[in-house]
Amino acid sequence: MNLKDLLDVSKDNSLSGQKWHMLRQSIVKRLLSAGNATIAEISSELQSSVPTVTKAVNELLQEGNVVDMGKITNSGGRRPSLYSINPTCAFFLGVEVGRTHMSIGLQDIKNEFISLDLRVPFALKNSQESLLEFCALINNYIEESSVEKKLIVGICINFSGRINSMEGFSYNYFFSENRPLTEIISEQLGLPVHLENDTRAMAFGEYCEGVVDDEQNIIFLNYSWGVAIGIMTDGKLYYGKSGYSGEFGHSTLFENEIICQCGKLGCLETEISGWSLVRQFKEALKEGKHSKIELNENEDLQHLDIISGAINLEDSLCIELVTRQSEKMGRYLSILLNIFNPDLLVIGGDFSQLGDFALLPIQSALKKHSLGLVNRDMKLKKSTLGHRVGVIGACCIVKEKMLSPFFK
Ligand SMILES: [Zn+2]
Repeated sequence: MNLKDLLDVSKDNSLSGQKWHMLRQSIVKRLLSAGNATIAEISSELQSSVPTVTKAVNELLQEGNVVDMGKITNSGGRRPSLYSINPTCAFFLGVEVGRTHMSIGLQDIKNEFISLDLRVPFALKNSQESLLEFCALINNYIEESSVEKKLIVGICINFSGRINSMEGFSYNYFFSENRPLTEIISEQLGLPVHLENDTRAMAFGEYCEGVVDDEQNIIFLNYSWGVAIGIMTDGKLYYGKSGYSGEFGHSTLFENEIICQCGKLGCLETEISGWSLVRQFKEALKEGKHSKIELNENEDLQHLDIISGAINLEDSLCIELVTRQSEKMGRYLSILLNIFNPDLLVIGGDFSQLGDFALLPIQSALKKHSLGLVNRDMKLKKSTLGHRVGVIGACCIVKEKMLSPFFK
């Protein structure tokens, strides 16, 4: 039996068969969640006798799901063996979908990448053809990898916008009233599918593998084309009632008559975001300001060009615009700090590439506008995982789901 089936419900309906399956499943989940263990440790934690656990572990060894790591050193007596999950017996697939690119990666049980393709060109459109093309890209990726599909436990896909992870619906992309998107994609891929909001997955990626040390109450800012936050409380992702928490970018803060991407007027994103940065840059040029970035009439300028202009060209206009935005961002983040009093605020997304150009204005505005006691309690860090953060978060979420008693 492979690990994926082992984590599924038992096919043996007899009471003894069910109990035996549950014990083997519990041993696997114990080794996955808390790392390597001896038989005595497993027996004590699961409150099952040593001979019974020994028999179950031997079965798992024979199947190749568990490996013997050798004898541990102790102060004397007979040295027990340490057991671990076989890293080659289960894999997780993580996908992050952007407007023009997607990133995809396959991780083993120890969260090591087997393969990772960042920013593969893919034009995300709200059509059936685009969805089929998306599924075909994932299927090709699996076929070209060195891992058999049956060993992939599941896939987590991150989209921007409103995602109901519990029910599997995506409201901004590929929305279907009749069926959850998870079901439609699962049919195409032949794998269990989980959907996640992109910012929430990034927050979880930083928590599991990135800049987070032992902080448990975290706000992760995704400052990119759009703006959103991921919230973690007591080490758990916060979803809200239906999964729409974190839409910080659509707080209507300005009376500027600018229509936001969400359709409302004056959202935070209309003045602080990648897409508003592009507008501000074009307006500045029209007003007669100069930049080293040459702009043709038909050229599709991206916020990343302006960010790169600030970093690589030290272009004065680009620096002025990103600094001004970051200062404003700090001012509005201070509201969140006063409300949440987090241990840690992580600045992530494309703007985090700017380093001090973004961090210093944010930091000084936070100091200026948030309550002193709240600010003193909190650490400010820059995301360290770069473009990999979303895929890492997605893979960690699949692993987390697998360990949950409700995983199917
Ligand atoms: Zn909006």
